[in-house]
Formats: sequence, structure tokens, C-alpha cells
Amino acid sequence: MTTQGFEKTKLPLTFIIVGAGLGGVAASICLKLAGHNVKLLENAKELGEVGAGIQIPPPSTKILEAIGCLDKVSKASVHPKDILVHRYTGEIISQQNLIPHVQDKYQGQYLHIHRADYHKILVDRAKELNVEIYLDSKVVAIDFEKTTVTTESGITHSGDIIVGYDGVRSTTRNLLTGRNDGAYDTGDLAYRALIDVEDMKKVTGLERFYETPNITFHYGPNIHVVIYFLHQGQLCNVVVLCPDTLENNHFREEATKEELLEMFKDWDQDLSKIFNLIKDVGKWKLQDSRELDTWVHRDGGNVIILGDASHSTLPYLASGASQAVEDAAILAGLFSKIESKDQIQDLLYLTENLRKWRSSQVVKGSKNCQNIYHLPDGPKQQKRDSLLAGPKTLGYPNRFADPVFQDFLWGYNAFDEIERGWKEYKAGIKSTYNYPNLYLNGEEAEYANINRTN
Ligand SMILES: Cc1cc2nc3c(=O)[nH]c(=O)nc-3n(C[C@H](O)[C@H](O)[C@H](O)COP(=O)(O)OP(=O)(O)OC[C@H]3O[C@@H](n4cnc5c(N)ncnc54)[C@H](O)[C@@H]3O)c2cc1C
Repeated sequence: MTTQGFEKTKLPLTFIIVGAGLGGVAASICLKLAGHNVKLLENAKELGEVGAGIQIPPPSTKILEAIGCLDKVSKASVHPKDILVHRYTGEIISQQNLIPHVQDKYQGQYLHIHRADYHKILVDRAKELNVEIYLDSKVVAIDFEKTTVTTESGITHSGDIIVGYDGVRSTTRNLLTGRNDGAYDTGDLAYRALIDVEDMKKVTGLERFYETPNITFHYGPNIHVVIYFLHQGQLCNVVVLCPDTLENNHFREEATKEELLEMFKDWDQDLSKIFNLIKDVGKWKLQDSRELDTWVHRDGGNVIILGDASHSTLPYLASGASQAVEDAAILAGLFSKIESKDQIQDLLYLTENLRKWRSSQVVKGSKNCQNIYHLPDGPKQQKRDSLLAGPKTLGYPNRFADPVFQDFLWGYNAFDEIERGWKEYKAGIKSTYNYPNLYLNGEEAEYANINRTN
């Protein structure tokens, strides 16, 4: 496959990006490669990412290739072979091959990397491209008419376009919508821990986890567990997704392995053997968003919000950051083609039109997974498991293995979308995402929307 990329604009503009998470840094690189000037403002005093592993699917690895980061990211990653879904009692109930099947089908790598490594590779590339990075710069105000942002310390930065990439509890979203209610508790939290594989090797019975690098899911009552590997297979990344016990507005707390051992006493005992090796574990409240009326300032300001600021999601399809990176590519690709400043508003709305349905489906699809993964024992769980034992057709409950949903999730090519969007724009056609029908209308559709509490 030939690498796709960004053409250089004939009209260099200045973009102010608020937030240097994975999305904001990716956007700074894409916009720089498209020939624009970028000021990247970050609240934190140092650049970095908290948390542990992250999965990078083919639509993002294609973008990473185009921006000159794939080799480094691929080298720092583990390349997983299969997705293996177990019931909480241990038996495998569904499987999806990643290498070679998904990699070949979607012409892109599927990778597991430590977030800090991923973020550092992007930051190094942004620095190489001379992105202007301002740390300790918490944006507190936007002047929508003058296209300026002001930081907490009173410094004002001006540009042609402001891009809010400031995460799930976004200030830019609040300023743009005039509301404070963009982040919603999902009812779940995530425990995240890293375990040394050398320690796992000392325990009999855990070979099946580390001998081949797979992604292992366990679905159980109200809880699911995701296990995969990082750092050349030397680190085991464990995420436990379960009901939220944190107080309101408490987003992160230290935790103990004993909490997990208690929660998992009736599960596959190999999980307890793994959890017993945990040295440090934290828990994070999981919030997501509702589809917003607009991502662009309604009254003509050149301001758009992207990434988690506009569509934060439960991590159950492992696709939040990949959506943020796709947003970055679409924004930069469209603005690489800009011909005059009067097109700025059109291109901001076109970015929204091309991205909103897709990212909303990721948010909605991830929420559906909460119900699918967490069913308590009973008729609905039995129905789910009988469907998982059947053919992989539209409505298949392992959404990674539903061929239609899989095409939607992993078959996306941002560069093709940029060309289509621009061509339709020039032809006067209002572009939107090409909606595939992701759910069946019959029983399985009802199943896909199943509510574990009814
Ligand atoms: C447990 C878990 C597992 C996940 N696993 C995956 C996965 O496998 N694959 C995947 O694709 N996604 C995954 N995600 C989702 C992914 O982490 C997010 O979608 C992604 O990090 C969002 O990137 P972002 O740049 O939009 O926002 P963020 O990463 O939240 O970055 C926002 C940045 O803005 C800064 N900021 C905030 N306010 C201001 C301000 N006022 N002024 C200046 N700066 C500001 C913040 O300090 C931060 O650096 C997971 C999420 C969780 C919780």
C-alpha cells in the first residue's frame, strides 16, 4: 500500500490547539505537515500521558504512517495475534484473529503500546516539525470574535482557528456551548495495573496469557477484564471495568489488589493469580459524552472542539484515542486544501459533518458493549453466548468480530474521506459520513441494545 499524506496548503494559517493529549499532539503534527502554523497550549507543566496501555487500530496506524511516526510506534509496540473472549468462568466463547486477518484485510497494523511511549513519539515528531508548545498554559477564556485564547496566567494567544482538544472535562466545550454538562458518569470505573511478566512466569498456569501476545477479555456479571501485553511482552497490562464506587467528582484514586481479589473470588482463578502479582493499581471514573448539537461555534467564531472534548467514550471498543487521531487527520487534510479565508467556517463544519456520526457511533457502540459484556448469569447471558457460538454476521455480540461493525470500526481511511469530502464540497454537496447500518432490525438488534438491568 502506498502511504497517503497531506498536501501543502497555499494559504498558511495559524491554529491554536488547546490540549496536548494524544489527539492534540497528533493534530499539531498533521496541521504542520499540511503547511500551517501551530501553537499547542497545554495545562500541565510537563508533557506526558498517565495510565498504562493503549490499543491502536488500523485507521490510526495508517495516519501514523502518513505522519512519519509508524516505524517508531510499531517498534515500541506489541503486535497482538488474536482477541480471545472468555466467560468469567474461563471458557472461550468468541475469537477474532488480528494478525494476519485484520492487518491484511484493513491494510494497517493493530498495535498495543504504552501510552507514555506513544505520546513521546508524537511529541518528538511535533518538536521536530517546530510546533510551538506552551506548557503550564491553562486556557480559561476564548474571544470568539478575535479568535484568541487567554490562559489562567493572563497570557493571550491569537490565531486564525482555535481547536479545543482538551479532553472529557473540556473548558473549550463549555465556552463554546455555554453549558457545563458535557461529561456524564457512565456508572463504571476502570482499575489499571501493569504486572511484570517475569513475575507471571514464576506462577504455574499463567503461560496461556503471555506465551502468545493476545488480547484476552473475560465477560462477567457487571464486570469485564481486558489483558494485553506491552514492552516486547515484558509487561502485562490489566484493565478491570466494573461498577463505579468513587464519590461524585472524584476521578482518580489509588486502589489495592485486595479489592480486586475480593471482586474476583468466584471468577476464573487464573485471574486472581495474576491480580495477586499487582504492586500498584489505580482506579479511574469513566465518563462519556452525549452527541452535541454542534462542535463548531454557532455564531461564526472560528472554533471547533475535537477528540474527547466532543465525543468521549467508554473504552469498551478501545477507540477513543483513535477517533481523536482520525479527527486530526480530517481537519488537517481539509485545511490543506483551503483556497481562501472565507472557506474557514465551511471547512470547520465539514470536519464536523464528516466526523460526528462516526464518533457518535463509537460512543453509542461502546455503551452497548457495557450491556453486552456485563450481563449477569441468566437468559440474556445465555442468549448472548448462544449468538457468540453462531455465525459471525451483523448483530454478532462480539462487536470486534461482527463483520459489518468491524468494517465500520477498522475499515476507515481518513485520507479517502478527505478527498471525498473536498470533492463533494466543491460540487456543492453537503458531505456526511456514509452511514452503514450497524444494527439489525430484528431480535439481534434488540439484543445489541440489551439492557442488563431489565
Ligand atoms: C481505561 C481506558 C482505556 C482506554 N483505552 C483506549 C484504547 O485502547 N484505544 C483508544 O483509542 N482509546 C482508548 N482510551 C480512550 C483514550 O484514552 C482517549 O479517548 C484519548 O486519550 C483522548 O485524547 P484527547 O487528546 O482528545 O484528550 P486527552 O487525552 O484527555 O487530552 C486532553 C489534554 O488537554 C489538557 N487540558 C485540559 N484542559 C485544558 C485547558 N483548559 N487548557 C489547556 N490544556 C488543557 C489536558 O491536560 C490533556 O493533556 C481509553 C481510555 C480509558 C479511560
